[in-house]
Amino acid sequence: MLTMPAWGVSSGAVAVGLSLFPGWVAKLSPCYDLGMSSDQSDTFPGLKEIFLEEKQIQQKVADLGVRITQDYRGKTPLLIGVLRGAAIFHADLIRHIELKLRVDFISVASYGDATKTSGEVQLIKDLDTSIRGVDAILVEDIVDTGLTLDYLVRNLESRRPASLRSCALLSKPSRRCIDIPIDYVGFEVPDKFFVGYGLDHQQKYRNLPFIASLGNDRTDF
Ligand code: 5GP
Repeated sequence: MLTMPAWGVSSGAVAVGLSLFPGWVAKLSPCYDLGMSSDQSDTFPGLKEIFLEEKQIQQKVADLGVRITQDYRGKTPLLIGVLRGAAIFHADLIRHIELKLRVDFISVASYGDATKTSGEVQLIKDLDTSIRGVDAILVEDIVDTGLTLDYLVRNLESRRPASLRSCALLSKPSRRCIDIPIDYVGFEVPDKFFVGYGLDHQQKYRNLPFIASLGNDRTDF
């Protein structure tokens, strides 16, 4: 049986969410009991707590879709997903935008260790299409220091789009090194390392339908 998590996620809602993934319930259940080490999970070692449950994420993505629909009425925006972390968010978001739209993807690498960026950003995969004269929206998973978003905005602005806005599911304001505005923000989150809903740790956890934090702090994993 799932115990009520101390961080306020309703165990009922969690149970409903996890019922879609019955195989995970047994393996993840230690993570719902703060009295037990999350490392007891064979499948997802290190998962500390569910920070955003699936329902909360889906509601926020729907809200962002409504806002973008209203703001871009009469236009055909290009939704640019930043691979790979934003792939799931991007896929869900575009289905909540009730407009004619186009999609493209870009991929960058930020160098550093597993949980911290060094500030060096490199383009790995460019867009397939020109954005000259296009209303482009950059769709990011998470803005941490802001260095990646700053790099992408400067790079894309130089291609002369009609407009360029940014949308990030998560933002960690306390970690910002560059004061870069984000036009659409899903959730402002604290300085923890998050996985799930597209976010990875060493390429794992992307398929979790919720967002969880890894360890108590950055030295835990
Ligand atoms: P930046 O520091 O440049 O804003 O973020 C660079 C990248 O680091 C993000 O696009 C994301 O891929 C990764 N990142 C930053 N914080 C987290 C986090 O909490 N979890 C995961 N999985 N990736 C993160």
